Amino acid sequence: MRTALNQKIDAAGKAPLETQLSVIVPCFNEEAALNTALERIMYVCNSQFGEQYEVILVDDGSNDATWDLIENAAQQHRNAVGVRLSRNHGHQSALLAGLAQACGSLILIIDADLQDPPELLPAMYALMNKENADVIYGRRRSRAGESGLKKGTAKAFYRLLSAVTDVDIPVDSGDFRLMRRHIGDLLLSMPERDRFTRGMVAWLGFKQIPIEYDRAARTAGETKYTMRKMLRLAVDAFLGFSLLPLRMAMALSA
Ligand code: UDP
Ligand code: MG
Repeated sequence: MRTALNQKIDAAGKAPLETQLSVIVPCFNEEAALNTALERIMYVCNSQFGEQYEVILVDDGSNDATWDLIENAAQQHRNAVGVRLSRNHGHQSALLAGLAQACGSLILIIDADLQDPPELLPAMYALMNKENADVIYGRRRSRAGESGLKKGTAKAFYRLLSAVTDVDIPVDSGDFRLMRRHIGDLLLSMPERDRFTRGMVAWLGFKQIPIEYDRAARTAGETKYTMRKMLRLAVDAFLGFSLLPLRMAMALSA
């Protein structure tokens, strides 16, 4: 088990696994969703990779029972690993912390609320091999259980961003993606602090292919992306991937 960002503790009796796949699951106050998510993720990973996978559950400073559940899971299952952040650093930092612990030749990023179906993994993996791709990213065909406001702002955001950036950031895609190890290593080597992972992956290039899916409603709990957090992500995306804010500031100060 790993209990802190840079601290690894191997639970007694656990032989190291040869890891083909690392699944990174950021979790903020996900006590209601976590156990079902882990069960479904592990079932799919097991059918595809046998025992050769790990699920890295990153507790992003939760104040509910999320960490207790993660600790339990890490004690019970040799494939489950817990990482606990010192406070709520935000989804993107949780992803980075998970990435820093990942040992797999492949990396899957997935949310804890099962809006992105883990059952898509075999199709993603098959497509990756067939196309010899470096990244397979999920593209949302539909979004169930989300408010009109959320869908509207997300749609506008992705289109506005692609209008002002030279990077080919795919529209209607979150961070749900399967990546080869070298993509993860490159992400780790990038020094950005306020990260917009989906944009950074796109910026890296290589062969990236979408896979369409229908985004489910949350299995349990409420969204953890408050309006404030969404705005912050949007600002990070615009500042990181477009010169427009800088040009506007220069024009206004002239
Ligand atoms: N999350 C996180 N830290 C935060 C907010 C969210 O780790 O500060 C996690 C959350 O637990 C989930 C994922 O990020 O696994 C996406 O969040 P959520 O499902 O609430 O966002 P939405 O799908 O509503 O945009
Ligand atoms: Mg969600």
